Amino acid sequence: MFPMTFLFLGGRLAVDLLNTVIARDLLGRREDVASWGEAAGVVADRDLRNVAREPAGLRAFREALRRGLVAWAAAGTPPARLIALLNHHLARDPAVTEVSRKGRDVVTRVRSAGGPIERLYGAVARSAAELITQGDPRRLRKCANPTCRLMFYDTSKSGRRRWCGHEPGGDSAPGSHTVNVLPAPGVESTVMWPPCSSASSRAMARPRPLPPRSRLRD
Ligand SMILES: [Zn+2]
Repeated sequence: MFPMTFLFLGGRLAVDLLNTVIARDLLGRREDVASWGEAAGVVADRDLRNVAREPAGLRAFREALRRGLVAWAAAGTPPARLIALLNHHLARDPAVTEVSRKGRDVVTRVRSAGGPIERLYGAVARSAAELITQGDPRRLRKCANPTCRLMFYDTSKSGRRRWCGHEPGGDSAPGSHTVNVLPAPGVESTVMWPPCSSASSRAMARPRPLPPRSRLRD
């Protein structure tokens, strides 16, 4: 079991990786890479635990990704360095198309061919690639709370999301800046937030279910 301190409020997996720095760096310990990979629903903790001993690599990828995506959002076009970064990781986790039986049918499916750590980086790279090829750079934003460093991709219909938290009533004032958490028994399901900088130990994201290993995800 991993400590559920990771947030998945970013709207895209690549943005969720950026949000692993809150009050502290959530990828600071050796086991954090595997914990994040499982919490993100990309690779099982047990598959990553043996290969992902060094979180410095994922932190470096995260910060390079942050620079690239922030530049994309500011300029409206991705910098060459970001494109090269994504292509590097996409190539390490190639997608293989297979034919297989499913009951009486024969179907094709696409699966990742990389090892566990390559699949983790590949999933984030695919998410970022989809963002810069199909997304709107104006919708990648930092939370409007000046004390909050979280980012999100605005998938709302109106395109006016300003806060990182999930408010039941949509956008609202900073005073009701909230984040949904996995409730402990007898505890309300929403905690007040700000200050965001002190929320890391309380704000817990619901882990995503792991997809079948064969399925490529965003
Ligand atoms: Zn925020």
